Amino acid sequence: MDIRVGIGYDAHRFTEGRPLVLGGITIPHDKGLLGHSDADALSHAVCDAILGAAALGDMGKYFPDTDPKWKGADSLVFLKECGRLAREKGWVVGNLDAIIVCQKPKMAPHIVKMVETLARTLGIEADRVSVKAKTTEGMGFEGREEGLSVQAIVQLKKEGK
Ligand code: MG
Repeated sequence: MDIRVGIGYDAHRFTEGRPLVLGGITIPHDKGLLGHSDADALSHAVCDAILGAAALGDMGKYFPDTDPKWKGADSLVFLKECGRLAREKGWVVGNLDAIIVCQKPKMAPHIVKMVETLARTLGIEADRVSVKAKTTEGMGFEGREEGLSVQAIVQLKKEGK
């Protein structure tokens, strides 16, 4: 079976006065993530994992943060486009797994909605998508609540196989 895997990573800084958006879901919190787009680090990590698996480069190649077109952009638009770019090469997402590294807020109440949203955006079944969350027990920038990071891995398979 022809399969590929790709890895993605993203980190954004917390700031006041912005919504916290992860996996297309707005999570109630007193801080949001700073970024050119909506700063949805989960969607960004998954985008890079898809692009990496298909050897298509990275997000910066398609959605540069210097382009005013993407200011405040909904990152699900990026995700949908990355799925389309992979499909154009004959690849579909076999499964994806992601870890949100974040001290606060608690992600557990939002995981199901994130999974459903990522799956719907990519046009795949929800049981192919996994999102997990971890704290770092107070260590590092995530632990100090300066920001959060996300790691993602994606397996692509040839369409129809
Ligand atoms: Mg990003």
